[in-house]
Amino acid sequence: MANTKEKLLEIRNLKKHFKIDSTNVLKAVDGISFDIFKGETFGLVGESGCGKSTAGRTILRLYEATEGEVNFKGENVHAKKSKKDLKKFNRSMQMIFQDPYASLNPRMTVKDIIAEGIDIHGLVKNNKQRSEVVNQLLQTVGLNSDHGNRYPHEFSGGQRQRIGIARALAVNPDFIVADEPISALDVSIQAQVVNLLKELQQERDLTYLFIAHDLSMVKHISDRVGVMYLGAMAEIATSDELYKRPMHPYTQALLSAIPLADPEVERTRERIIIEGDIPSPINPPSGCRFRTRCPMAMEVCSKIVPELKEYEDGHWAACHLYDSRYNAENKAMELQHH
Ligand code: SF4
Repeated sequence: MANTKEKLLEIRNLKKHFKIDSTNVLKAVDGISFDIFKGETFGLVGESGCGKSTAGRTILRLYEATEGEVNFKGENVHAKKSKKDLKKFNRSMQMIFQDPYASLNPRMTVKDIIAEGIDIHGLVKNNKQRSEVVNQLLQTVGLNSDHGNRYPHEFSGGQRQRIGIARALAVNPDFIVADEPISALDVSIQAQVVNLLKELQQERDLTYLFIAHDLSMVKHISDRVGVMYLGAMAEIATSDELYKRPMHPYTQALLSAIPLADPEVERTRERIIIEGDIPSPINPPSGCRFRTRCPMAMEVCSKIVPELKEYEDGHWAACHLYDSRYNAENKAMELQHH
């Protein structure tokens, strides 16, 4: 758990739009703001297509932001930088990818894959030292030094993900974006990789942004969770608070879809079914983006975009249901119609 409230990252009104053609723009990330504290794991969840992966990549500057800021230790990552400063950022912030098959170059030995960052940043003096560091990293992630001379195809999915983790650790980063790092793995292997990530976090004082499409997956690893829907942030809370008292109807629906261990509770509880598909981020609904699927939608929801507000200490939601001002406006609107 995070034992400090020191901010490592401040993400402010971050937007990443992709131009599709002369008239259409895909608003993959459309103005998200949140903080990530030093030493914590911030889980970012939502259905596929909600923009969470694009958000992770834009935070790391793998994509240029369309608008907004990512302040890392107080410095905006997206501001113009000298090559030297960029190198410093690239070293401090690393990524673990979803697909351990596609993300490792099949023609490189594991040793060279892991050492890539070490070479780029000139972190060792000679070949002997390079081998020592790589061997150490292989051991750290539960592999052994013999594995260094082999190629990625000789490994299982779980082992490849360990290689991906070693590669990320090689440059001693402070912050790692783990983009669905366990979704492509067998269920039996998932817990091992999560445990490894947790151990490394403790040992190396790492901060994680852990991206997943499934709330049950982030529950155990995350200190806090942000729920994204169609390019916007719907809710942010500590992991416990989010699971016990979800505020946003979308979070409530996602949680109600997770099967419970207790068969009696599981049988009798009410499920919230979200109707319909996620709308296109090229032409999102007006007002609240969730309104076309929200069982609680009110008239005001189609007119005014709900702001993400802190309703309780550390618990943020973007929903008119909790906003007394819009609630009053909505009642007035409904009265006018009757
Ligand atoms: Fe539902 Fe309205 Fe809240 Fe959006 S603002 S989640 S449509 S109640």
